[in-house]
Amino acid sequence: MSVYTVKEIYYTLQGEGAQTGRAAVFLRFAGCNLWSGREQDRATAVCRFCDTDFADRDGPGGGKFATAEALAEAIEEKWRDPSPPGLKIETWGARPQKRENADPSTLAARAASAQDDKTEAEPRGWGGGKRFVVCTGGEPLLQLDAALIGALHARGFEIGVETNGTIEAPPGIDWLCVSPKAGAELRQRSGDELKLVYPQPGAEPVAFEGLRFRHFFLQPMDGPHREADTHAALRYCLEHPRWRLSLQTHKLLGIP
Ligand code: SF4
Repeated sequence: MSVYTVKEIYYTLQGEGAQTGRAAVFLRFAGCNLWSGREQDRATAVCRFCDTDFADRDGPGGGKFATAEALAEAIEEKWRDPSPPGLKIETWGARPQKRENADPSTLAARAASAQDDKTEAEPRGWGGGKRFVVCTGGEPLLQLDAALIGALHARGFEIGVETNGTIEAPPGIDWLCVSPKAGAELRQRSGDELKLVYPQPGAEPVAFEGLRFRHFFLQPMDGPHREADTHAALRYCLEHPRWRLSLQTHKLLGIP
């Protein structure tokens, strides 16, 4: 029988990558294989830029769960009874909004294109209002197993995973996001989106372009050089259109 160690479980909007803006229950597992989560170990860790508190199990909804059923039930309760955090939107107010030039021919073309999109089958993992759980961490693939995947599917959840790619993913994941880390061997080399924190010396975007992913995102490194790193990522995407920019919109909104 599995025992799952969970830092926190909460309902919010996905803030990053291709699923940005989608309502989701976040299941944050405790523990990672690339850093202990303790500040005194950061300088010697494989991954040193982590911005997430995943140590212990002391967050809202966190704890030990003795069975997959018990953990799936706790996740379902968050979906049934969401408590969205208050939005802090002052960040938006400080920024001037630039309106697009409403050229009627452009707008008509866009409307036709949107209609075409609606007639296409919705791709796997794209939602359509379905329940969505994002398994993250820490490193979720240290703990996510077939029993939990089955229990979540039985409750109607699509399962998203955000992994550092050092562990091969089990079957049954509906949306797999891999975020490679410099200095760590990449074992999971396919999925739905590859989201590379940029810049990372030793993990250049070109090294990942040939892998089997549907989307390729660069996400600016958060930290003391965030502004410069954002400009660098922006510039890279302009010069290499294979890559799209992913911003951490949850931080702009002040939601978890
Ligand atoms: S791999 Fe992810 S969770 Fe682990 S230390 Fe790095 S950024 Fe944090």
